[in-house]
Amino acid sequence: MRIHHLNCITLCPPGGRLMDGRSGAHGPAQLPCHCLLLELADRLVLVDTGFGLEDVHHPRPRLAPMFLYTLCRPRLVEEDTAVRQLQRLGFRAEDVTDIVLTHLDFDHAGGLDDFPRARIHLLEAEARGAVAQATPLDRRRFRPQQWMSADRWLPYPERGERWFGFEAVRDLQGLPPEILLVPLPGHTAGHAGVAVRRGDDWLLHAGDAYFFREEMNPTHPRCTPGLRFYQRLMEKDRALRLGNQERLRELVRRHGDEVTVFCAHDMVELELLQHEEARRELQSHATPAPAGWTAPGPHLHS
Ligand SMILES: [Zn+2]
Repeated sequence: MRIHHLNCITLCPPGGRLMDGRSGAHGPAQLPCHCLLLELADRLVLVDTGFGLEDVHHPRPRLAPMFLYTLCRPRLVEEDTAVRQLQRLGFRAEDVTDIVLTHLDFDHAGGLDDFPRARIHLLEAEARGAVAQATPLDRRRFRPQQWMSADRWLPYPERGERWFGFEAVRDLQGLPPEILLVPLPGHTAGHAGVAVRRGDDWLLHAGDAYFFREEMNPTHPRCTPGLRFYQRLMEKDRALRLGNQERLRELVRRHGDEVTVFCAHDMVELELLQHEEARRELQSHATPAPAGWTAPGPHLHS
């Protein structure tokens, strides 16, 4: 399976370094919407979609002003949508047969409408919570305007088997057992991570279970003040959210050599993983030495 790490629209909220930990003090921060494009033998699978074409061309009323103009300020450029990025890689929107969603927030589900053939896999609690629109904040974060795909949603109960100490839903309809939903509620009611087996090891896309790379520091976890504030504003259940962050740190401590954990909105994690995949790709294409060939040694020059 070939894996692409895509940034499907950059969020540019105010706060600079107080938000992302590395931008200038005065300019905007830069937070990616980190999605995965999985190339299977016969089709494509997306993990999250970021923002989509309709968000770019008609941000109102699809997106709430509070996020569009104040808290997130996405840089809405068509070239950064998932569908345009995969077209540049030589694929078609119709090649995407499945999308696995961490959750239904506007910055993860905006591109669903760009993939008319895809089945959408998500947790039942997430679909229920988003559709209920129970609070004013819910009506701003969960946007039915982005859900033309609702008849293709496949919601799963939070039951399944164990995966590194977590509950996991492995039997996603029509998908191989190398792709799992891992419930990580707290940010939203049915928030999940998505685990993907990559040869000998695993990737865990932790969605918005945390926002800043140093939150996964096994011994000295920390978060920028801006992202700490944003996470508290958006949380559905603080105890569950913080408990799951601790479980993820424990996963990194105990199984960091088997599982690479990353979140949706950290640019450093995204860049590191893009470089790593590029390196793996280069290694997989390295031409094997012809039979009988021996590497030139120092003796040739002595
Ligand atoms: Zn998000």
